[in-house]
Amino acid sequence: MTANAPITQDVLTLPRKLPEGGKTNLVGMTRDQMRQALIDIGTPEKQAKMRVGQIWQWIYQWGKRDFAEMTNLSKALRAQLEESFEITIPEVITRQISEDGTRKYLVRIAGGHEVEVVYIPEDSRGTLCISSQVGCTLTCSFCHTGTQRLVRNLTSAEIIGQVMMARDDLDEWPVPGTRNPDEARTLSNIVLMGMGEPLYNFDNVRDAMKIAMDPEGIQLSRRRITLSTSGVVPEIARTAEEIGCLLAVSFHATTDEVRDKLVPINKRWNIAALLEALRAYPHLSNSERITFEYVMLAHVNDSKEDAHRLAKLIEGIPAKINLIPFNEWPGAPYKRSSGNRIHAFSDIIHDAGYASPIRKPRGEDIMAACGQLKSATERARKSRKQIEAEAGVKS
Ligand code: SAH
Ligand code: SF4
Repeated sequence: MTANAPITQDVLTLPRKLPEGGKTNLVGMTRDQMRQALIDIGTPEKQAKMRVGQIWQWIYQWGKRDFAEMTNLSKALRAQLEESFEITIPEVITRQISEDGTRKYLVRIAGGHEVEVVYIPEDSRGTLCISSQVGCTLTCSFCHTGTQRLVRNLTSAEIIGQVMMARDDLDEWPVPGTRNPDEARTLSNIVLMGMGEPLYNFDNVRDAMKIAMDPEGIQLSRRRITLSTSGVVPEIARTAEEIGCLLAVSFHATTDEVRDKLVPINKRWNIAALLEALRAYPHLSNSERITFEYVMLAHVNDSKEDAHRLAKLIEGIPAKINLIPFNEWPGAPYKRSSGNRIHAFSDIIHDAGYASPIRKPRGEDIMAACGQLKSATERARKSRKQIEAEAGVKS
């Protein structure tokens, strides 16, 4: 796909039911879907809602995968569940731990595909960066994932399953019957900033994040979940209405000319259209600022004029500007801005009244930093020449 090709979301999504004879996975189902699935195996309609709550707690609060352990359900029901259903999450293939404690997992999903998941420990929180697609249909010229053609959307089970997998690895499922308040959590935040464009897999991302936020699910506050989009404008209002999490946007440029090259979806929805959608994001308040992600590319988007223009563009939007020093990857057509240029940029934004933290690259030694994710099975990378041609730059 070239940068000029139409942007499509016409991608394969797996059916929920497994092939004939297989068991149906309960993970990732909405409450309504699970209620119906229980009724289908003979649970009386009147009881079904309560059973869903109980099963959700076993699966998402206590981390159980074995129906036999669900001791507040009758033995008969447990046997019935065992016969028809399974509780399955993606399988961990490799785990790398960086010098700074960042963990990068390669997990295998149905069809033999692999996606990457990154856990980033910090003093006051632990953030899990999860993927929403295998590859990406978009072709942002600075992003490693963008060089990998899209294979498919992840199911809601595969999306929430990444969180469950990390809780397994961090060994932080509480003992059944006890509560696990937010503050005590190792995995306290989720960011949808891994592989893929979450808003091109809207329904599955929504269903998975509803489980993450549910008081009988993973129990994370919606303020602890951040969805990052490259700017799929028509889905931004839906994100506020149907998910209600925090929003980050891959802004990266201050003129349409430059953004067209860096984030090609800009040709479909330009800076003005994007800003209009962001201004309307109904949940805006001081505590719910939009995060503007801005990758610092040497002499491409990092001038003082850019910083002034950016401050002007976002005027009136409660915002934080995350400056991301470019993470290089083999064949990348850009260089990271110098420390001086990044600080000068940050100061201008700061003086205009916005927080402008410079993101510290994490897990660089294991290629776990932003935009470096790319699974081992899909190495069909474009040539350096092709990437440069699309990006409109010369080496
Ligand atoms: N597809 C979504 C979410 C995944 S990317 C999106 O584009 O928003 C997460 C963030 O990392 C985005 O802001 C993305 O632009 C940025 N990123 C991608 N490649 C990068 C790189 N090589 N260096 C630094 N940041 C990068
Ligand atoms: Fe896809 Fe986001 Fe990478 Fe762009 S930055 S190619 S939207 S993953």
